Amino acid sequence: MREDCLFCKIAAGDIPAKMVYEDEKLVVFRDINPQAPQHLLIVPRKHIRTTVDLTTADNELVGHIHQVAGKLAHDLGFADNGFRLVNNCNADGGQVVWHIHFHLLGGREMGWPPG
Ligand code: 5GP
Ligand code: ZN
Repeated sequence: MREDCLFCKIAAGDIPAKMVYEDEKLVVFRDINPQAPQHLLIVPRKHIRTTVDLTTADNELVGHIHQVAGKLAHDLGFADNGFRLVNNCNADGGQVVWHIHFHLLGGREMGWPPG
């Protein structure tokens, strides 16, 4: 828990969010500025700054994130149509919140290449 971190505070329940799923390793809540009909943020409880800061100790966590993404896509009804699971890393990647998170976007057809 980092006192100066928005997503640590949301994970701890200190700042409200529209929570969709929680377990001991991660929280999932709705993005405040949705870019698709379904736009969820999958956020580990552990404060990790970026994808570049992941270590082998986090391998199980990253696998769990992907497994939960698929389960939520299924439960919310867009797994078969398809979705995006996106991590924005560092400045060129468009990262603005410095606590690792994965965007789960669904409910519309996505364009490629991304902007
Ligand atoms: P990034 O560009 O870092 O990958 O994405 C950060 C995301 O966090 C953005 O999509 C932004 O809308 C979302 N966000 C920023 N502040 C808040 C907040 O206070 N609550 C929620 N639910 N989402 C937020
Ligand atoms: Zn944090």
